[in-house]
Amino acid sequence: MLIDGHGREVNYIRVSVTERCNFRCQYCMPEKPFSWTPKENLLSFDELFKFIKIAIDSGVNKVRITGGEPLLRENLDYFIKLIHNYNADIDLAITTNGYLLPEIAQKLKDAGLKRLNISLDSLKPAVAAQIAQKNVLSKVLEGIEKSLEVGLKVKINMVPLWGINDSEIIDILEFARERDITVRFIEYMENIHANSQIKGLSGKEILSAIKQKYKIKKVGRVKNSPSFHYEIVENGYRFGLIDPHKHDFCEDCNRIRLTAEGHLIPCLYFDEAQSIAQAVRDNDIDKAAEILKDVLANKPKENRWGEDDNEGSNRAFYQTGG
Ligand code: SAM
Ligand code: SF4
Repeated sequence: MLIDGHGREVNYIRVSVTERCNFRCQYCMPEKPFSWTPKENLLSFDELFKFIKIAIDSGVNKVRITGGEPLLRENLDYFIKLIHNYNADIDLAITTNGYLLPEIAQKLKDAGLKRLNISLDSLKPAVAAQIAQKNVLSKVLEGIEKSLEVGLKVKINMVPLWGINDSEIIDILEFARERDITVRFIEYMENIHANSQIKGLSGKEILSAIKQKYKIKKVGRVKNSPSFHYEIVENGYRFGLIDPHKHDFCEDCNRIRLTAEGHLIPCLYFDEAQSIAQAVRDNDIDKAAEILKDVLANKPKENRWGEDDNEGSNRAFYQTGG
């Protein structure tokens, strides 16, 4: 079992396999092209897996693959297979924008993937294109249907933004309810990489949009999850709300993050990280395990969200994996 310096059990690792993305969501990435980390600096899947094995052997039982856009990384199904074949009980999931799923969903399922979180911010082609800065909707919708068809469990993530997709909260909720999948509404988190003009809806504003149509009741927070669950009274449908401006989830935080370059990050809101890259490249398992222990011992008690005044965190979601 992995226990951090504040007595919390850590059993969840989020692995960002690339910072690159085929979208430029206004709330996440700069508009202009910028320089990516050179490919040779990235750890291979075999190298990343060496570290994941250490984490699993120490008690990690949940692995989420994210990015950037994780489906852009070639042979992702090989990586899924490595983890699944090592331990089929691992709760193995991907967070994706869904664009490449029509081609890859079956392969991922066959490799052992269980779950997908797919970002869906609009059901209107022009609005989806405005947010992603690319014409994306038809492929994303096709990707969702394909994933369901091959038997993957799907959740939807939506980030509601004023003047852009704020009028679609109910539509996205209905879209998810009709397919019997969970939707989670996520408050926009301000950061310097985003378009400075955008403004997100607060959790309260998201709930009040839903209340215009439905009576809802609070169900509570699932342990270790940043998501609060609510239920629509008349039909029992449950959805999630992630509202970090109001709540922090640090008390029972159970996660660490690994980037494609091998940086092990103890907290989404912290820049401090230690690199496991050299250790795995040298096949020095003891060293990598020692770094894991050290990162856990120094995992902060609370995030620094408030210290940025919520005006513009410099932490990039596309680098840390959200
Ligand atoms: N590219 C994949 C995707 O979009 O699902 C995975 C990486 S993305 C960084 C992970 C999640 O972070 C997505 O659900 C996205 O909507 C969310 N996200 C990105 N920037 C955000 C921001 N500034 N505030 C809130 N959520 C954000
Ligand atoms: Fe890419 Fe995901 Fe960021 Fe959108 S939210 S730009 S899809 S990494």
